[in-house]
Amino acid sequence: MHSIRAISTLAVVLGLWSAPVAASDSAQEHETAPTAAELETAPLSLRGTRGAPHPDCSNKVPLWEHEVQAGEHLGLIAGRYGVRRSALVELNEIADPNLIRTGQTLKVCPEIAPRQTKQVTHVVASGETMSAIAKQYDLTVSELLDRAGAELSNPNLVRVGQSFSFWVDDGMVEAFRPPLPKKKAKKKRAGGRKSHGRTRVSVQLDGGATMHIKRPRLAFGTAKTVRLIERAVGQYKRRHAKSPKVLIGDMSKKGGGKIEPHLSHRRGVDIDVGYVLKGDTLTTTRFRGVNSKTLDPKRTWALVKAFLDTDEVRYIFMDYALQKQLYEFARSQGTSEDELDELFQYPRGRGRSHGIIRHWRSHKNHFHVRFEG
Ligand SMILES: [Zn+2]
Repeated sequence: MHSIRAISTLAVVLGLWSAPVAASDSAQEHETAPTAAELETAPLSLRGTRGAPHPDCSNKVPLWEHEVQAGEHLGLIAGRYGVRRSALVELNEIADPNLIRTGQTLKVCPEIAPRQTKQVTHVVASGETMSAIAKQYDLTVSELLDRAGAELSNPNLVRVGQSFSFWVDDGMVEAFRPPLPKKKAKKKRAGGRKSHGRTRVSVQLDGGATMHIKRPRLAFGTAKTVRLIERAVGQYKRRHAKSPKVLIGDMSKKGGGKIEPHLSHRRGVDIDVGYVLKGDTLTTTRFRGVNSKTLDPKRTWALVKAFLDTDEVRYIFMDYALQKQLYEFARSQGTSEDELDELFQYPRGRGRSHGIIRHWRSHKNHFHVRFEG
């Protein structure tokens, strides 16, 4: 049962809740409390879960040991936990990322909560298609085929009554569940240790000739965040010199803290960025909803990639329909399946938490980058 109270307690713990406010041009995201279903799948912080944080994970999250399943490769495993392949390579001192064996154990410091797995056996019913079966288990067809392995070696010759087995996700691992709502949760919010040990939100982003900053008073970040944004935009502009100015929305206010209507943007590690529209000049300084006709996929992907290339991005919120466009563009440009599986939630469905780029509502006209803080 998900009562309103339970939802808001969870959300408060995860630092995501804010009261509804009137919509405006700046009311870009997260205006209302997330629903229970969204909380289950949204890219939420795993800081402060039930289990003890582990030194190998910089004491931020508990350590998880992933047993490599049939059909998994490094990008898929990274995507499953919302981390980069490079992080797994480093943590596990992997010599050859292409040589991952089924049954091998990999250490992970997850950004997406680990789930138990269970084996299921499916008996094919009359009239069932592969995509219908995959959907029933919340899998893509290729995931289903990979996992079923030899039992489904020829998916075109599946008979009614035939059975095959594969693994699926089960419940969330206990250590990664949000803490039980009790004792100190409130005190923390009241501000007792508000800025204790936190990096200062004191540097204002200067757009210069390459960025248009919508609201300079809300363009503050930590020194590191500002440096990373400048690096990303610099990389993008070197490759697309003629492109319009990058449209920068809200970051944080000076000193940090809550800014309406955002649920995040409090610690100087978040930034909203406009998708790149077709054309060589910035024709509007508002965030405009984009679609396949107005989006410039080449430049937008280059911009998103420039942020990812800092290797300091924890996640990017992006509308699922736009993920699809960028995914298909990146694929057409020769991006490997391994990298696509590492980076994108698409095509797994907006309800399945996976990858660095994930769906969260109200990101049709801009994407949101959260840096490591
Ligand atoms: Zn945002």
